[in-house]
Amino acid sequence: MNYNVDEKGYYGDFGGAFIPEMLYPNVTELRESYLTITEQPEFKKEFDDLLKVYVGRPTPLYFAKRLSERYQTKIYLKREDLCHTGAHKVNNTIGQILLAERLGKTRIIAETGAGQHGVATATVCALKGIECIVYMGELDIKRQAPNVARMKMLGAEVRAAESGSKTLKDATNEAIRDWINNPVDTHYIIGSVVGPHPYPDMVARFQSVISEETKWQLQEQEGRDYPDHVIACVGGGSNAAGLYYHYLNDKRVNIIAVEAAGKGIDSGESAATSALGKEGIIHGSKTLLMQTPDGQITEPYSISAGLDYPGVGPLHAHLFRSKRAEFISIPDQEAMDWGLTLSQMEGIIPAIETAHAFAALDVRKFGSDEVVVFNCSGRGDKDLETYIDYFKL
Ligand SMILES: *Cc1c(COP(=O)(O)O)cnc(C)c1O
Repeated sequence: MNYNVDEKGYYGDFGGAFIPEMLYPNVTELRESYLTITEQPEFKKEFDDLLKVYVGRPTPLYFAKRLSERYQTKIYLKREDLCHTGAHKVNNTIGQILLAERLGKTRIIAETGAGQHGVATATVCALKGIECIVYMGELDIKRQAPNVARMKMLGAEVRAAESGSKTLKDATNEAIRDWINNPVDTHYIIGSVVGPHPYPDMVARFQSVISEETKWQLQEQEGRDYPDHVIACVGGGSNAAGLYYHYLNDKRVNIIAVEAAGKGIDSGESAATSALGKEGIIHGSKTLLMQTPDGQITEPYSISAGLDYPGVGPLHAHLFRSKRAEFISIPDQEAMDWGLTLSQMEGIIPAIETAHAFAALDVRKFGSDEVVVFNCSGRGDKDLETYIDYFKL
C-alpha cells in the first residue's frame, strides 16, 4: 500500500481533479510545474530561509513532563503554535507565494472561513508586496471581525460572498469564479490538503517540514527518529498531513487523526467526517464528505472554526478507508476542557482545534515506554473570546 499521491493525483480511491473545463489551463499549469519549481535548489533555499528567519523554524519539540506523568507515557508537543501568525498555516502560504512568484503571478486570491487562512495569505502577500484578495462569506465577516481587521491591516482586500449560506463554500465559489476570469496573472492559494490535484500533494509537501524536523528532534531526544504514535486534529487535514508525512510508509508509527464531533456525532451538529461521510466531490476532489441522501453537502458544525469543514482531504479519506490511521471524534465539551487542562498543566493555551487532539489521551491508552507526538497546531489567542464565554472567565 502506498500513501503518497500517485501520478494521476489519487490516494487510493480518492483525489483527482474534478473541475470545470474553464479551470483546466490554471490547474494544468500548476500540475506541470509545481514539482520542478519546488525542487529547484534556489526555491528550496528561499523557502528554508523564510521558514527560519520569518516563521521562526525549527519549532521546538517539547517534552511535556507533567502531562507525561499524569498519563504514564512519553508525550511530546510539536510547537507549531510558535510559528509567526500563531499556527502551521503559514508554512503552506510561504511555499505557495514563492511558487506564484516563479510562475509570474502578480495577484493572489484565497477563500477563508474563520479567517485564519486569510490572515496567513495576507501576511505572505505583504511580505512580497503582491496584491491580495480574500473571499469570505458575509456571515463569516460578521462572526470573525478581528481576523477581518488583521487582513485589512495587512493590506488585503476582503470581498464578501453574499450568495447561499454566506459562509465558506460560497466564498470558495467566488474564488473559483475569480480564478476562471483571471487565469494568467492570478494564483489561488488553497489553505489545506484539499482541492483538485496537485493542491493536496503540494500543501502536504510544504507542511512536511513538521515531520522532517520531528525526525531529527526525536533522534536527539529519544535516540530514535520515530515515535510510536503521531496525533493531530483534522479539519481539512494540513497540520496532520505535515506531522504524518515522513511516517506515512513507516509501519512502526501508528497514526491517529482527531475530528470534531461538535455537539455529538449523531446530533446533526458535527464535523465528524470519517464517522458520517460518504464518497463525494467537494472542492474539486473525490473524498469523504458529509452529505444528505441526495448528495447535498451538509452544513458542518464545531465550536472550533478550523475544524468546521464538511470533508477531509483525499489523503485522509485514504488513510481512513485503508485503516492506516485510527480516527477519533471529540465533542466540543471535551475539547474545551482540554483547552484548560493544557493551559494549567503545561502553561500552553492551545487553539480549540489543537485542544481536540489532546482529548485522545482520554480515549486511548498508551504504554509507559511509548513515545507519543502531538501536533500543537496553533495558539489559543484567537479563541480567547470563546474560552471567556464558555468558562465565564
Ligand atoms: C486551520 C487550523 C486547523 C485545521 O486545519 P488543517 O488543515 O486540518 O490543519 C487546525 N488547527 C489550527 C490552529 C488551525 O488554525
